[in-house]
Amino acid sequence: MKTYDAIIIGAGAAGLMCAVEAGKRNRSVLLIDHSASIAKKLAISGGGRCNFTNRFISSENFISGDPRFCETAIEGFTPDDFISLLKKHRIKFHEKSLGQLFCDGGSAQIISMLAVECRRANIEFALNCDILEVSKNERFEVATSRENFAANSLVVATGGLSFPKTGASDLGHRIAKRFGIGVTPTKPALVPLLFGAGDRAIFAGLSGVSLPAVVSFGEQRFQDNILFTHKGLSGPAALQISSYWEKGAPISIDFLPEIDLLGLFTKNQSRKIELKNFLATLMPKSLAEALCRGFFESRRLTQYPPREFRRISEKLHSFELLPYGTEGFARAEVTLGGVDTAELSPKTMESKRVKGLYFVGEVVDVTGWLGGYNLQWAWSSGATAGRSIG
Ligand SMILES: Cc1cc2nc3c(=O)[nH]c(=O)nc-3n(C[C@H](O)[C@H](O)[C@H](O)COP(=O)(O)OP(=O)(O)OC[C@H]3O[C@@H](n4cnc5c(N)ncnc54)[C@H](O)[C@@H]3O)c2cc1C
Repeated sequence: MKTYDAIIIGAGAAGLMCAVEAGKRNRSVLLIDHSASIAKKLAISGGGRCNFTNRFISSENFISGDPRFCETAIEGFTPDDFISLLKKHRIKFHEKSLGQLFCDGGSAQIISMLAVECRRANIEFALNCDILEVSKNERFEVATSRENFAANSLVVATGGLSFPKTGASDLGHRIAKRFGIGVTPTKPALVPLLFGAGDRAIFAGLSGVSLPAVVSFGEQRFQDNILFTHKGLSGPAALQISSYWEKGAPISIDFLPEIDLLGLFTKNQSRKIELKNFLATLMPKSLAEALCRGFFESRRLTQYPPREFRRISEKLHSFELLPYGTEGFARAEVTLGGVDTAELSPKTMESKRVKGLYFVGEVVDVTGWLGGYNLQWAWSSGATAGRSIG
């Protein structure tokens, strides 16, 4: 049986980074993936432009059973460390809003950079290779559709359940459970929300309309664009809140952030302009019309008593929307939940229970906000394990 220092299952962002760091330390590494090509999810990240990290990063940008678990790995391999790697390969990047860094040449450049780094570090690949069984005796043994392999360390970098088109599977969770390691409940995150039937009828026809808004759920609020789809809400602010949203409870939308609508009504109360036309000066016309159709009668501003202005202002600044559900793992960017952080050492990503077994990337119960945080978690956790493998 061919034997390595480490076998890594999953040649995505986290697995590749782990392989590079372990290989640089002269560890013999086999990277196994059931897909025919590496990093399929990375290839479509950021719509192919790859928002590979964020300059402003802290544990507050992550959701996890232990919100501070991610800190050690991120401090050990920072956004600047990844940027240095890009610079070494002369890959150009640019900053968009909120510290989000994108690759000028898209994900393909990052994927070839990682492939080059793997080649230099003598990483062996077994692609198109299905995992049949994972066991541990003296060493880890991995039975595959090709042949059986053994290693002293096994790194599980199989990602989460989101976007099955890119090769996602539950293998990582199954391996954890097989070794008695806890897995927290999973659900789709950074995912479009679906309207209930009533809202769907009101907002039908707004598909493609986008506007800045504040979307809140409980204590959490995000100010960014929302995008109406033919089924519900997407866009950055809606995706962000989807990671916090709990089924059966409404989210709140401020359609006019930073606008004092009641003050504007008071100033304009003697105008004969119709409500829907007045609102259309502040938000997309089709949305103003839909809101008036669904919730207020559109009359001239002169015809509203002050208490009605107050009601309309309150409604538009804290519009309650009860999503019917989400578009599910098929359209989710990431998976909330996963391998319980209480089971892992934050310094190495090694299981506390099973020596030599590591979990990195999205398979772990660490979920980032939209904005490059998930890929930074993949780089940081992958590098941490790669630097620790015995
Ligand atoms: C549409 C989309 C856009 C995104 N955009 C961004 C972005 O711009 N910025 C950002 O930070 N994050 C983004 N993300 C999230 C980010 O891509 C992931 O968080 C990240 O790729 C996770 O890395 P990973 O290595 O843990 O998992 P993955 O990249 O999913 O890699 C897991 C690997 O394991 C392999 N595998 C799975 N099951 C098996 C099995 N049974 N046998 C063998 N191999 C297996 C898979 O084939 C895959 O190669 C986006 C996600 C999506 C879906």
